[in-house]
Amino acid sequence: MPSSSNDLFQRAQQLMPGGVNSPVRAFRSVGGTPFFTKKARGATLTTVDDRELIDFVCTWGPAIHGHNNPVIRDAIAKALEKGTSFGTPNPYEIEMAELIVELVPSVEKVRMVNSGTEATMTAIRLARGYTGRDKIIKFAGCYHGHVDSLLIKAGSGALTLGNPDSAGIPDSFAQETIVLPFNDSQALEVAFQEFGDQLAAVILEPYPANVGLIMPKEGYLQSLRDLCSKHGSVLIFDEVMTGFRVSAGGVQQRDAITPDLTALGKIIGGGLPVGALGGKAEIMDFLAPLGPVYQAGTLSGNPLAMAAGIASLRMLQESDIYDRLEKMGQQVQDAVTTAAQETGLPIQVPQVASMFCIYFAEETVENLDDAIATDTDRFNKFFHTCLDNGVYLPPSKYEANFISTAHEQTAIDQACDVIVKAIHGL
Ligand SMILES: *Cc1c(COP(=O)(O)O)cnc(C)c1O
Repeated sequence: MPSSSNDLFQRAQQLMPGGVNSPVRAFRSVGGTPFFTKKARGATLTTVDDRELIDFVCTWGPAIHGHNNPVIRDAIAKALEKGTSFGTPNPYEIEMAELIVELVPSVEKVRMVNSGTEATMTAIRLARGYTGRDKIIKFAGCYHGHVDSLLIKAGSGALTLGNPDSAGIPDSFAQETIVLPFNDSQALEVAFQEFGDQLAAVILEPYPANVGLIMPKEGYLQSLRDLCSKHGSVLIFDEVMTGFRVSAGGVQQRDAITPDLTALGKIIGGGLPVGALGGKAEIMDFLAPLGPVYQAGTLSGNPLAMAAGIASLRMLQESDIYDRLEKMGQQVQDAVTTAAQETGLPIQVPQVASMFCIYFAEETVENLDDAIATDTDRFNKFFHTCLDNGVYLPPSKYEANFISTAHEQTAIDQACDVIVKAIHGL
């Protein structure tokens, strides 16, 4: 007899810390037992218990074309016939680099890596090597993967588990990281006044999406760009989440702000493990083998991963794709807003393109403190009601929802119906 999610989770907990290989999967924030997925197709996950769920997690962002997309699968199959890894340069890497340079406005040169974490880690080292400075600024609630100097007041799983500051990070590292509240121009000015000539870099998610979803205030990103230019600090956009998601060229294209370096991941791998760091050639050329900043990867530029990523990015060049995704995002936002009005419940639904978040709060969420203050109990009840009725939202109030091109109108209609009913039941 096939094992149930409950049985598998019992076994998993004996074998893996918390039963998972990435913390948020454990449902610690919302309570209950996580389900195990046996297969996924389009917008649907099928659990080992034979439940079918409309998925708004989309493997935490990458699946913009839905699960098990046939075009991506074919690209992987074709690459597979030629081999799984060469350890030499391969033609796919060129195609991938050309696509990234074409799509992402600020990128002149690129280095492929295997995860978003590697991309941000390398970005920080490169900025330090390039400027000869040590200090960096990050923002409370921004998550940049599990990099030592960036796991300070971080978002996503770190926040979900109530420890935005990880154990195991020496104070001496943490002292080089200045943490500021997001959307606070004055705090930014003060920090630059005090530390401007010591600042190697400022790193941020231009639309923070690991603390729910927060939009920058008008002019905020531009003021950051101006301050970095004035003080010779490297501006790093972490677009691991927003890259290829909010537009083909990410936030930098949507808001017309040019960072110096950009970290990419998630969508760029088409569902396989890929990340990338790109930016100005002058800075990128500080990387080995040209420059003094070391970085390497046994499987970097892996042909299967490149083939999947290339297929994923090429499909994003279809003309109306972002319009279609935006419309679906707006439909969900409208449905939730109407339900909030009908019930009188305080709900905020920030939405941009195919990303949205449902906060139980009176006021617009502008920073980490606002996000923490939103109603957790109400979110958790809402989450479980949706899940019980076949709609899988991210299992934490600090995560963003994603829509894919495989979410057909019927799936969106059905999901909106479930979400609206869940709100009415709160
Ligand atoms: C997911 C994410 C990362 C980390 O990427 P991994 O591939 O999980 O290492 C970094 N930054 C942002 C903004 C992310 O959303």
